[in-house]
Amino acid sequence: MADYKNVMIFGEIVEGKLASITKELLGGGRKLADELGEELHAVLLGHGVTELAREAIAFGADKAYVVDDPKLSDYQIDLYSSSINEVIERIKPRVLLFGHTDIGADLGPRLSFRLDRAIATDCVELSVEPDTKHLLRTKPVYGGMAMATFTSEGFPQMATVRPKSLAPAEWRGSAEGLAVPIDVELVEVASSINFVERVTEEAEGIKLEDAEVIVAGGRGIGDAEGFKKLEEAAKLLRGAVGGSRVAVDNGWIPTTMQVGITGKIVAPKLYLAVAISGASQHMTGCSRSQRIVAINKDLSAPIFKQAHFGVVGDWKIVLPAFLNKLKTLE
Ligand SMILES: Cc1cc2nc3c(=O)[nH]c(=O)nc-3n(C[C@H](O)[C@H](O)[C@H](O)COP(=O)(O)OP(=O)(O)OC[C@H]3O[C@@H](n4cnc5c(N)ncnc54)[C@H](O)[C@@H]3O)c2cc1C
Repeated sequence: MADYKNVMIFGEIVEGKLASITKELLGGGRKLADELGEELHAVLLGHGVTELAREAIAFGADKAYVVDDPKLSDYQIDLYSSSINEVIERIKPRVLLFGHTDIGADLGPRLSFRLDRAIATDCVELSVEPDTKHLLRTKPVYGGMAMATFTSEGFPQMATVRPKSLAPAEWRGSAEGLAVPIDVELVEVASSINFVERVTEEAEGIKLEDAEVIVAGGRGIGDAEGFKKLEEAAKLLRGAVGGSRVAVDNGWIPTTMQVGITGKIVAPKLYLAVAISGASQHMTGCSRSQRIVAINKDLSAPIFKQAHFGVVGDWKIVLPAFLNKLKTLE
């Protein structure tokens, strides 16, 4: 297995740009490659994507392999998996990472089956086992009740990674690197799965996972009406509203707004946690926030152990006072 070397990430492209998950994989992949003392490679599939290979290099890849063909313009599982399969057989990466997105969660397990290699899906942490140099893959198990770390024999060592769980790579500008075209013979097979059309979901306001500011509420908000106050705060802060699972279970907010181990992982600049106790299942979803500010009436609430700033008090008094102050600063 000595010929398996380097870390490779599958780069996703959305509307002609590198997807945010691609930058996160480049960030996490870079760390793994540095720990291993090896290179970081990206593989991009699509049509007219060579320029994006250079961008992947500017975001930290040492090399970006490109399979460029009009047949790959849209995601098609058979063509994508056979192309990546061929790239892997030629390049032989030690580690192979996908995002745990619609595409990555489809492609990764199919490749693992084709290659007869283990894959850990929906991982939230990756590291290298110092002695064996194997990839350690950590993910929530039993519906989020515990975290488990997996390792496996054989190469490539594969994982899909949950969005927002790795810090994205920084743009390093005109960095040195190599964009390498790879010719793959694309044989269109009769497939039971075909691309029909792309339907973009219209979302109002800023998406939770893209927001730089999140105002999140918990059980103490009391009802859906209370969340309207949080919306007002989020609007003033140009952010998005999120919440705990209790808020979702009570029907005050939709499931798409749940933060936590069984919800979304977020990493905003500011996470304002209002009337949230700070259960570990919730904090796993927001602990990568740059600043956590908590408002809670109970001084002994666990959230104060992780918050950078905290206000002990009733949110119905604290939040309006905060908003009033904010308005004077505009
Ligand atoms: C398998 C599993 C997976 C889970 N996944 C998730 C997940 O993804 N996300 C998630 O959030 N939870 C998840 N949970 C639930 C989690 O364990 C907690 O139960 C939940 O996060 C608690 O939500 P909360 O903080 O809103 O409610 P509580 O824990 O009840 O806390 C409410 C807080 O509000 C404060 N408060 C009340 N009134 C006021 C007021 N007027 N002003 C100020 N403060 C006030 C209270 O002091 C208290 O600290 C999961 C649980 C399990 C078992």
